[in-house]
Amino acid sequence: MEKPVFTGSFTQQEPIPEAAIAAAVAVMRAGRLHRYNLAPGEEGEVAVLEREFAAFTGARYALAVASGGYAMGCALRALGVGAGDKVLSNGFTLAPVPGAIASVGATPVFVEVTDALTIDLDDLATKAAASGAKTLLLSHMRGHICDMDRLMAIAAAHGLRVIEDCAHTMGAAWKGVPSGRHGVLGCYSTQTYKHINSGEGGFLITDDPEIMARAVMLSGSYMLYGKHTAAPAPEMFEKVKYDTPNISGRMDHLRAAILRPQLAELPVQVMRWNMLYRMMEAGLRNIAGLRIVERPPQESIVGSSFQFLLPEWPADRVRALLAACAARGVELKWFGAAEPVAFTSRYDSWRYAPAQSLPRTDAILAGLIDMRLPLTFSEADVALIASIIRDEVMGLTVQAAE
Ligand SMILES: *Cc1c(COP(=O)(O)O)cnc(C)c1O
Repeated sequence: MEKPVFTGSFTQQEPIPEAAIAAAVAVMRAGRLHRYNLAPGEEGEVAVLEREFAAFTGARYALAVASGGYAMGCALRALGVGAGDKVLSNGFTLAPVPGAIASVGATPVFVEVTDALTIDLDDLATKAAASGAKTLLLSHMRGHICDMDRLMAIAAAHGLRVIEDCAHTMGAAWKGVPSGRHGVLGCYSTQTYKHINSGEGGFLITDDPEIMARAVMLSGSYMLYGKHTAAPAPEMFEKVKYDTPNISGRMDHLRAAILRPQLAELPVQVMRWNMLYRMMEAGLRNIAGLRIVERPPQESIVGSSFQFLLPEWPADRVRALLAACAARGVELKWFGAAEPVAFTSRYDSWRYAPAQSLPRTDAILAGLIDMRLPLTFSEADVALIASIIRDEVMGLTVQAAE
């Protein structure tokens, strides 16, 4: 009998909503694409989006920028992190995170990951004490949120300022507090593969007026900060405007126009993602050799991607699984590969940072498999993908036992 094959695409997002396309066309017709190019009395798509994003997260201030990576670099600069400073961060994350640290001349100090795929809080406490770092760039990698109460207690004990990388947690929460609202600053991405899509883009949020004034100046506001409506009052800018450099990374009206309708729809999209996620989870439960990453009840997730573990699997068997699944149209990503591939790289590939040893992270990444769950997948697609993975994992597990 022919084995069923999946023919969909793991990288195909939904189209941009019609309302967003209409808003983008209106911006193009007006010709005013730069965020500070406003008609008299006009607030502009970017400033409105910032107000809406502040309201969405509950933050006092929000700034829209050119990318998630830019948001993190800007957050570090706004906190005064610079050359030679140490910044704690996750050993398991995506390349723009250590890249943001390197962009300000600082040195990443990587922290181990647990089998819940969250930062190892014991290792964080140890490394905070040993390194003397005063900043943590915390990545909620693949949407997994650690025990934020304990993390913030460790941060307080060691005088750490926390920046949250919420590239995978826009719309998620820990004990009802939105991701990005625990630390001093939250950073988000609106790149195509995240939760709202403008190709490239990002946000930065904070409640701290001086930090936001610096971030606005940094983002390239010239002396037009008065046009921001989700930023502190002009007096705060008087304090920082002469000593904050302009490192342009603004968002434009075109991207803001296509993001606003998507932000409004995000709660509905989150429900759709979580439906697919829970189906995949159910489909991959109770398979010998495959471990589900259980989500804690305190976490409100956005299931836009799915991870599972193949604990103790030798590399050859993982490779055989990837090949068997790929042959049936299921493209899995593996964080254990020796060489960086496409979006997937690991801390030992980031050789601009000092070499560091993370044995527990190595052991987990050796068996960590990842896949996206785009909203173009139907429930039938998810069921088929899960059954293909199940078949192939079971086949290889039986073979290995023989
Ligand atoms: C995508 C991503 C970012 C930001 O990426 P940009 O492409 O710069 O918007 C940050 N952190 C993680 C974990 C990401 O996956």
